[in-house]
Amino acid sequence: MKVQLLWFKRDLRIRDHRPLVEAAKRGCVLPLYVVEPSVIQAPDYDPCHWTFIRRSLEELREELARRGAPLVVRVGEAVEVLEGLLRQYPVESIWAHEETGNAITYARDRAVRRWARERGVVLDESPSNGVVRRLRSRDGWSRIWEQRMAAPVLAPPDVLRPVAIDPGPLPTHAELGLGVDRRQGAQPGGERAAHALLESFLAGRGYRYHREMSSPVTAFEACSRLSAHLAYGTISTKQVVQALRKQIAQTTDAEVRRALRAFDARLHWRCHFMQKLEDEPGIEHHNFVRALDGMREGDFRRDWFDAWREGRTGYPMVDACMRCLEETGWLNFRMRAMLMSFAAYHLWLHWREPGLHLARLFVDYEPGIHWSQCQMQSGTTGINTLRIYNPSKQLTDHDPQGVFVRRWVAELRDLPVEFLAEPWRMPSRRNGYPDPVVDHETAIRRARARLSEFRRRAEVRRECQEVAVKHGSRKGSSRRPARGRGMIPP
Ligand SMILES: Cc1cc2nc3c(=O)[nH]c(=O)nc-3n(C[C@H](O)[C@H](O)[C@H](O)COP(=O)(O)OP(=O)(O)OC[C@H]3O[C@@H](n4cnc5c(N)ncnc54)[C@H](O)[C@@H]3O)c2cc1C
Repeated sequence: MKVQLLWFKRDLRIRDHRPLVEAAKRGCVLPLYVVEPSVIQAPDYDPCHWTFIRRSLEELREELARRGAPLVVRVGEAVEVLEGLLRQYPVESIWAHEETGNAITYARDRAVRRWARERGVVLDESPSNGVVRRLRSRDGWSRIWEQRMAAPVLAPPDVLRPVAIDPGPLPTHAELGLGVDRRQGAQPGGERAAHALLESFLAGRGYRYHREMSSPVTAFEACSRLSAHLAYGTISTKQVVQALRKQIAQTTDAEVRRALRAFDARLHWRCHFMQKLEDEPGIEHHNFVRALDGMREGDFRRDWFDAWREGRTGYPMVDACMRCLEETGWLNFRMRAMLMSFAAYHLWLHWREPGLHLARLFVDYEPGIHWSQCQMQSGTTGINTLRIYNPSKQLTDHDPQGVFVRRWVAELRDLPVEFLAEPWRMPSRRNGYPDPVVDHETAIRRARARLSEFRRRAEVRRECQEVAVKHGSRKGSSRRPARGRGMIPP
């Protein structure tokens, strides 16, 4: 009997999984996960990613085995692994979800498509979420997103007809040559954990979401914490949107509805940002506005980058965030934005190296959101309002008692709270905590002047318009974005 090969990538679940449902209808199913050396050796990969994926694969294997066909795991490049399986089994079709990944998985997907064509194997790829492949125009994109989110959630098949094959072991970090996962406080993977998080969020944890998402003191509890699950597909965006909207419909409390609606908007943003990388894979490596190339490249200060990376910039909120990330692998949006903004404006570092460092720190690394956001917080998209975060003000506003900072910056535990935002004012009680790597006011003035010089250029202005048409949100405009809307004049 012909074999249906089910290729899992960033969709490590059995529920709401169209490729699984379609493959099961047609015959024997060979469920496969490929650990690709080119992916795990890339500079944006970290052992913490494998920890999350491996836990998710364990559960997926259990669930598939219960239905009759355990997950097969192979280490190797995708085309080689698929070719090997094709030699042994009469593979008729490969069923998979589309992936909006990094340059490596993009090239791999093209190679697999080419290989399947040459070998006469049908490759059926389903959309993963609201991201639209080969999108011609952003006009009407939100409508497609809504349609996709409203489609029925698919139940998993009860039984799978197996193929006689050794499933192979789930390799350990050491077997893959990955280092030790340092993020001991990171959240675990798996479909069950994803649903437990969604339930607790909708049952109360998220009721003050809009008020508590910005402070790192409250965000760990008040945010959904679903990002890594959405990134590796242990839950689908559609499952989250439908459960959320059901909850909104049942909620009478206006404040709770406000909180849940704010969360709904983020799920929309998720795909909106990912669509940018889908439409323009190059933004992982180069500026949205190419005419801004050269603006920072020649100024990279390795010593400043190291201070930022190691959490010793002398700005307690920046350092607390970095040290917290090292252990937990998660941070709320505002603090991520502040970290990136500090690297881009205060330290004038090109976003690529800091972005790679954060990609390795974030358990939830999602290339489409990540690279769009890294550029947005660095002022290179040409369409977003410039936002330069003052780390001392962020501390005063979002950690006024110093709870977060004292937890992560041990040197400052005894510093009186009124000095926490500016510890350099009290050198005697700092326990070796460093002086600021740059002066805030001076650094910001210099950054603004440099940006203005570039943004005045005619080619920059012209490209900003092009980026707005290609990538800009249509929200608030009937069809097209206003010309250069959101761009700060120099
Ligand atoms: C420099 C930078 C890099 C980032 N890199 C990533 C990344 O690699 N992976 C990632 O998932 N998020 C990234 N984000 C966006 C955001 O910070 C995280 O999605 C969020 O903190 C995850 O926590 P949560 O699941 O509790 O989010 P919630 O606040 O509960 O939001 C729910 C979901 O909505 C989506 N979402 C939330 N905020 C945004 C946003 N601003 N843009 C796009 N989607 C959003 C995410 O999928 C998130 O899981 C980045 C933000 C910045 C500033």
